[in-house]
Amino acid sequence: MKEKVADAYARLCKVEMGLPGEIARKIYPNAGNVIGKKLYRCASSARFPAKDLEEWTITGVSVIPKDRYKLYDYLGGWRMPVGRPTKKLVADAEEYIKKYMSAPLDMFDLFFNIERTTTWKDSSGEVHESLSMAGERYNVETGFELFRGEVRVSLNPDDFAEKIARDMEEYEKYYAPREGYVACERCGKQVPENEAVKYKLIYQGYDQNLRKARVMSRIGTFCSGECAMNEQMSLEG
Ligand SMILES: [Zn+2]
Repeated sequence: MKEKVADAYARLCKVEMGLPGEIARKIYPNAGNVIGKKLYRCASSARFPAKDLEEWTITGVSVIPKDRYKLYDYLGGWRMPVGRPTKKLVADAEEYIKKYMSAPLDMFDLFFNIERTTTWKDSSGEVHESLSMAGERYNVETGFELFRGEVRVSLNPDDFAEKIARDMEEYEKYYAPREGYVACERCGKQVPENEAVKYKLIYQGYDQNLRKARVMSRIGTFCSGECAMNEQMSLEG
């Protein structure tokens, strides 16, 4: 009996810590085999196209409830009790685990822990290394979280080839500097010099001479009145 109590508690603690590998494998069949593998992030956009992908190493995968309270509701609000385990308590715990393990998968997300080392040079030319750690959420229905409606995380670097090609194409079409054109300060698009909208931006600035904040202005260059207004509004906070 004592053994059984300890087992049930150990399993329960594991569930509470959000580490049930069975659920992870149901959401992502390969979850057990991705540790140590590469995960790629694509930061490319039409304005700033990037051929290079960020390369990260997967250091762990865990299961997290999408909404902890919704999950507890589903499970009947049961919490791990404190105090001496009893037969009844263990039976309840077993029931809880069973329910947890068979909960609808869309109640959970996977969380990929990732890290990568980057190198950088300081002003004297000395090379330094720095380690970054991050995480990516993986949804059972939609996969990795989208950024502005686009996939920017994948285990397969080829997944971004089409997007990067499209970004390059759009960059050439709209953003690449060209003769007789200027870039919009807001959206970055190239606009013929004689069609550019000149707009007087008014904003709070810091006057170095007076050593205080005061209203300032400058002329900005934009592709359209809309971009000019958006820039003015962003300056007003
Ligand atoms: Zn613009």
